[in-house]
Amino acid sequence: MMQWNDLRSMNMEELTQVLLARGEKKFRARQIYGWLHKKLISRPEEMRNIPAACLDKLCEDHPLYGVTELKRYVSKIDGTMKFLFALHDGNIIESVLMKYKHGNSVCISSQAGCRMGCRFCASTLLGLSRNLYPSEMLDQIYQIQRMTGERVSHVVVMGTGEPFDNYDALSRMLDLLCDPEGLNISRRNITVSTCGIVPRIYQFADRHPQVTLAISLHAPDDASRRDLMPIANRYSLAELMKAANYYVNKTRRRITFEYSLVKDKNDGREEALKLVKLVEGLNCHINLIPVNPIQERDFKQSEDRSVRHFVKVLEDNHIQVTVRREMGRDIQAACGQLRKGYAERSEAVCDPTA
Ligand code: SAH
Repeated sequence: MMQWNDLRSMNMEELTQVLLARGEKKFRARQIYGWLHKKLISRPEEMRNIPAACLDKLCEDHPLYGVTELKRYVSKIDGTMKFLFALHDGNIIESVLMKYKHGNSVCISSQAGCRMGCRFCASTLLGLSRNLYPSEMLDQIYQIQRMTGERVSHVVVMGTGEPFDNYDALSRMLDLLCDPEGLNISRRNITVSTCGIVPRIYQFADRHPQVTLAISLHAPDDASRRDLMPIANRYSLAELMKAANYYVNKTRRRITFEYSLVKDKNDGREEALKLVKLVEGLNCHINLIPVNPIQERDFKQSEDRSVRHFVKVLEDNHIQVTVRREMGRDIQAACGQLRKGYAERSEAVCDPTA
């Protein structure tokens, strides 16, 4: 049984089986796969060398799901672009394109909404609507590459949703994205960020050892982590750190911890020292994110002085640390500011090309 029935979620083997079962020639699979994953077409009619009879029937059973651009925002500060995309069932998701010297990076959503409930995050305010298909995660990248005409070299799964709450689709998406017969993005240029669903971290380390893993930590002890992230009630920091160690030992790769700095909550010297103790000896890198305020909550960004002090404590203890550059704040494209598009829907249905 195939887990996903839609054309762009299938891998080459599945597509081949489907076509053979219909009495088609094997080479059609490679042709269609190329249209879907290399030439990045968005409508079946664009597959010019496939007979219409074959395509029409195929698409009846295996629809071509993807995303449709509704709206685009461009940051006046740094050129970051945020896209509002519609799914075939009317759900709306967001994706972000960031331009760096090292290449174009796309931040994709893995779910429409999110059920993790992190207190500081806008993406979870309305709960989970549904999981995305592999095709819908991929097409965010494909459409952005198509629209800009520039190659996407880096992908971060840090948009709306918890990727490890949609693990199987994430895993398939990664295989398709890194396929030499598709966009062939380097696994090392992909980062998946999780709030810390422990069993999936083990699975991920075994199955996708070359993909970079980021764990949202945000607090250095269980009590304060539970205040910020409900997932901390399910898995203790001890369990989480054990899984992080497993990833590093298994993959020989550096792990990233994200730590959002909230004024007077987790940004003091004491927390910095606890954080040092927590990660000491582990091959890791701490990415500090001064929390981006969302209107529904009262979390305030740490002051520059506190951020600098926090950084210094980590550095003095030989912990690798960077402060994440905030991208696209003026268009609500920064971390934790993506949300389901419902609230904006009436405004969003205008034609972006008009
Ligand atoms: N669900 C995944 C990935 C999505 S969020 C995860 O939790 O890791 C990507 C990062 O942005 C996470 O580290 C998340 O905790 C952080 N984040 C969420 N809301 C934020 C906010 N308001 N300000 C700064 N970072 C935020």
